[in-house]
Amino acid sequence: MQYLAARDEGDVLEALSDGETSVLAGGQSLIIDVRRREHCPPRIVDINRVTAFDTLIENGGFLRIGPLVRHRTFESEKVAGPLGELMRVVVQHIGHPPIRARGTMLGSLAYAHPAAEWPVVAVTLGAQLVLAGLRGRRTVAAGEFFTGPYGTVRRPDELLVEVRLPLLPGGTGTGYAEDRRTTIYPQAAAMAAITVTDGLITAAAIGLVNAGPCPVRARAAENVLLGGPCSDAAITAAAEAAAEVDVTTGDRRAIRRQARRALSQARERV
Ligand SMILES: Cc1cc2nc3c(=O)[nH]c(=O)nc-3n(C[C@H](O)[C@H](O)[C@H](O)COP(=O)(O)OP(=O)(O)OC[C@H]3O[C@@H](n4cnc5c(N)ncnc54)[C@H](O)[C@@H]3O)c2cc1C
Repeated sequence: MQYLAARDEGDVLEALSDGETSVLAGGQSLIIDVRRREHCPPRIVDINRVTAFDTLIENGGFLRIGPLVRHRTFESEKVAGPLGELMRVVVQHIGHPPIRARGTMLGSLAYAHPAAEWPVVAVTLGAQLVLAGLRGRRTVAAGEFFTGPYGTVRRPDELLVEVRLPLLPGGTGTGYAEDRRTTIYPQAAAMAAITVTDGLITAAAIGLVNAGPCPVRARAAENVLLGGPCSDAAITAAAEAAAEVDVTTGDRRAIRRQARRALSQARERV
């Protein structure tokens, strides 16, 4: 296996243009897969020296995150407001401190483990993902990026250069809950964001893990909440509706329970 150390984005895109080279970001999934011989690319391009990739900025209503921003960054107060609050909760569920110190958010999105935390956050919030190749850049909605377990629309010659998470307005409360026993990844998980104006829910987003081959929005559950107060009855009805999604890989009861927990947390944080 050949090792290439990139100095800038051009080096990375040049290396990827053969369609067979893998990006090395935090290495917290790639190196394990290589060691287990589950994935043996002929070449690896290491992006860790591309300092321009370590970018985290708020701009145009989005938090824009580059390929070298580590999970650990989101443990700090760097991101303000309801989005920062959500990320500080979610990141605590990812592995353990050494994994969070090396692993990157964009690596997690590119890897697309079906039960990973960042993909469901991206899908639920309606994030945009920016892909770059030698032929140019394109932007894909998170809801269209994931195609199944470990599957995305990223072409082999493309680098995921940025994810844009919409900043959440004041009056938004968020929650994230997962059911994890002895495995690395959760069996079921849910993320919720609700915005309350004058006592009524004006925006709702609920995302589920293991309710399908990749993270999904529970639109029916969101519709149950819209326009009404965030009462116990509304949360129960929405959690019930969340469990009615096409559950192909998961457990309806576990999904209902996590949806209810995430919504209850969101209500407390509004
Ligand atoms: C013990 C352990 C526990 C873990 N627990 C969790 C957990 O609870 N939740 C969780 O979500 N994750 C968990 N992980 C995985 C961890 O979050 C990884 O950091 C993440 O999956 C991949 O990020 P990375 O930066 O390490 O990517 P790498 O391992 O470097 O790369 C992973 C894959 O993505 C590709 N890639 C990376 N960056 C890009 C990019 N910018 N553009 C295109 N392709 C790219 C690589 O080529 C490779 O195919 C765990 C890992 C370990 C070892």
